[in-house]
Amino acid sequence: MNELIDERLFLENLALVRERITSACADCGRSPSEVRVLPITKTFPLGAAEYALRSGYPVVGENRVQEALSKMETAPPELQWELVGHLQSNKAKVAAGRFDRIQSVDSVKLLRRLNAAMESEGASQRILLQVNAGEDPAKFGVLPQEAEALLEEGLSLPCIEVEGLMTIAPFSSDPDVARRAFARLREVGNRLAESSGASLPELSMGMSGDLEAAVAEGSTLLRLGSAFFGDRVSH
Ligand SMILES: *Cc1c(COP(=O)(O)O)cnc(C)c1O
Repeated sequence: MNELIDERLFLENLALVRERITSACADCGRSPSEVRVLPITKTFPLGAAEYALRSGYPVVGENRVQEALSKMETAPPELQWELVGHLQSNKAKVAAGRFDRIQSVDSVKLLRRLNAAMESEGASQRILLQVNAGEDPAKFGVLPQEAEALLEEGLSLPCIEVEGLMTIAPFSSDPDVARRAFARLREVGNRLAESSGASLPELSMGMSGDLEAAVAEGSTLLRLGSAFFGDRVSH
């Protein structure tokens, strides 16, 4: 676990994040109300999620199932959790129904297993499809050209609700690399919405280092960890 910063410092970071979003929106003529923020609390104690909750962010993101489940055990019931990290299909059953939304769905097998687990609970699972929009070999997610088949499968399953797409940009010192990946995700989303007739309102893209590029390309959800809680030195 990383050490949790003081809540005062968190509030300062939050103000800086809000300024960055306002200014990024002003630069491209968007309204800051169209861009929501998901604080990513991975590697930090539960207190990080409690800071977020107290500041009006009741939904937080985690990247590991076990870490998230153990935080949930003692978390205030108002907190909601999304999974943003890779989910192996053999862990689908453990994760299904425990997260308000799973953003990292990237295979038919995982979709089917999540659906089966939810069917037996008589509920449904909200998800995003993770697309490797930057075609980065180091990233999870389906390639853009595979997204349509995955969406079709998702739309055919009764206990799966596909709400949109998620991507993680390739690491690069060149900000245009991230921007191109975000533009690609938006294009894929538009194309899929048109071909399937499904509404795919969520575009989860942009992290602490590249939120401006993501806002410029139409992000509806920024996933921000270090901008709120500081650098992570260990897992
Ligand atoms: C850790 C993580 C983030 C947040 O990254 P920061 O650079 O700390 O903002 C966003 N999305 C995913 C999938 C992550 O694993």
